This record gives sequence, structure tokens and C-alpha cells, in this order.
Amino acid sequence: MSETLLRVENLKKYFRVRGSFTKKVRAVDDVSFEIFRGTTLGVVGESGCGKSTLGRTILRLIDPTSGRIIFDGRDVTKVKGKALREYWRNAQMVFQDPHTSLNPRMTIASILLEPIKSYRIYVEDEEKFLVEQLEMVGLGKEHLYRYPHELSGGQKQRVAILRAIIVKPKFVVLDEPTSALDVSVQAQILELLKNLQKIYNLTYMFISHDIAVVKYMSDAIAVMYLGKIVEIGDADTVFFNPLHPYTKYLLSAIPIPDPKMARDRKKVIIQGEPPSPINPPPGCRFHPRCPFAMDICRKEEPPKIEVEKNHIVACMLYAKK
Ligand code: SF4
Repeated sequence: MSETLLRVENLKKYFRVRGSFTKKVRAVDDVSFEIFRGTTLGVVGESGCGKSTLGRTILRLIDPTSGRIIFDGRDVTKVKGKALREYWRNAQMVFQDPHTSLNPRMTIASILLEPIKSYRIYVEDEEKFLVEQLEMVGLGKEHLYRYPHELSGGQKQRVAILRAIIVKPKFVVLDEPTSALDVSVQAQILELLKNLQKIYNLTYMFISHDIAVVKYMSDAIAVMYLGKIVEIGDADTVFFNPLHPYTKYLLSAIPIPDPKMARDRKKVIIQGEPPSPINPPPGCRFHPRCPFAMDICRKEEPPKIEVEKNHIVACMLYAKK
């Protein structure tokens, strides 16, 4: 039976709007899910939907407004000091842009030794250890004493990934880890992440705006819109049997190489840009853009409906009449 590593319950992260006592950005608004050990949950949505804030809040890089984060059976929502450091050792993050996430003044060796020293991990022969680690991510001894600017984008992201996993965490949040890279390098980095997951039994939360990449990487998919999860389920189910109009829209934006299949595909076209999370629309937040919106959608927030096992959607179209 699958064992839950991370459970998030009703998580909220609101930011105060500068210059206003009342206005708040509801970046993450009542989000709940769990991730099983050794699996990947993909989180997909347009930029600004709150997916990066969700990752950072779960890792306690920013404090949640309310809700609970249960990691490996322990409530880490409010832990501080030593307990927070212990959590950070087990829960790491890889950022989108390797060009800015690595300190340009440090050699690759110093960058990789920093977490080792910070968590007081004993290593007998540092150079031998680092070379073995670099080889795990497709780099070698020749990269050890170079500076980040001497590496390509893909090589830098390999170093950033290694820095996150060098302390042997259980969980890694991957925040758009390939979107700053050349297309030719993206597939190699995704493959590397999959291999490392197998070797170390890592659990991932994979954040991306690209639902095709999310499908390739994930066991389960959560679709986010304006701070809320609107659909969540097994990756195959969400990808091949999407229910929420927004998920259908994301899927219809994937290019299909076969012109006949592309013609036959039912496209969901939506209008405009997502509204501001400062003052989200009442009822269903997607209603101003939804081609299926009904009167009730403008007034009431859609409930979370378990349409089939492990497949939840928040949409009035599936509410019992
Ligand atoms: Fe569209 Fe209504 Fe469903 Fe929202 S609840 S996605 S507006 S049909």
C-alpha cells in the first residue's frame, strides 16, 4: 500500500497588499492534497496561479496564513529552530533559473560543500565524494573547481539539482526546473530527475505551466487556477479524462503533430487573462472565462466533488442536481 509522505490540509497563503489594510492577495487559498512516498505530484497552471507560492509555503520558506503541513507523520506547519532545519534537510527545492540560483563567486565544489557543512554531514574524502556525486548527475572532476559562469545552462541546473539532493532529502519541490533551459537540454534534465528519483526513492512536487511535461513526470496531477486546485487525480485520469473546463483548455493548447487528430480534437477556447488574485471573482473563480458558466457559478463556490476514485473536481457541472 502507498504511504503518504506529505499531507497538506486547507493551506492558505495570503499576502497583504502594500498601502492597504484590507486588501490581500490570496495566492494559495484552501489547498489540500497528499503525496505518496517515491511518487511525483505535478502542479500545473498559468503563471501567477500560486503554484510557486504553494511550493515555497509547503517548504516553510514563507509562513502559511493557515492550514496544516504534515510531513512524514509530523506537523511541520509551525516548527522553528532545530526542528525547522531538520525539515529543510529532508525537504529541498530546485529553482527555475540556475543562472541566478547559484552563487557566481563560489566554485562548484564550494557550492556543493555548503549544505554538507551546514548540516554537519561527515565526509571522509571531500574531493572523492564530490566527484562521485558529480558523476551521478552527468558531470565530472573537470567541473569541480569551475565557477557557475563557466558552465552551460544545463550543467548549472545539474549542479542545482545535486545541491538539493546531496544531503539525501526525502522530498524535493521542483519549481519549473527546465523552463529556463534550451529545448534540447530540457529532456535530458527531466530524464536525470526521473533516474535520481528511482535511485534515491525521492518524492517530488513538480511545478510547471506545461501540462504535457507534467504528465510525463507525474503519477498524479493537480491543476491550479487563481490559488485553488480545480482538479486533482491520477496523471492518466486527469490527462485522458479531464473534467474541469480549465483542464480541458490546458490540454487543448498542446500541439498535436497529426493534422487529422488535431482537427478532430474538441478544443475548449477561453477568453481573456486570469483575474487578479487580490479581488477574485465571487463564486467559481473561473466563471468570467468559462464557456459553460451558469448563474449558480457566479454566486456559489463550487464544491470539491469526488467523481471517481482519486479524481476530484471543483466544478458545478458535476454537482448533484
Ligand atoms: Fe465553469 Fe461553472 Fe464549472 Fe466554474 S463551476 S468551471 S464557471 S461550469
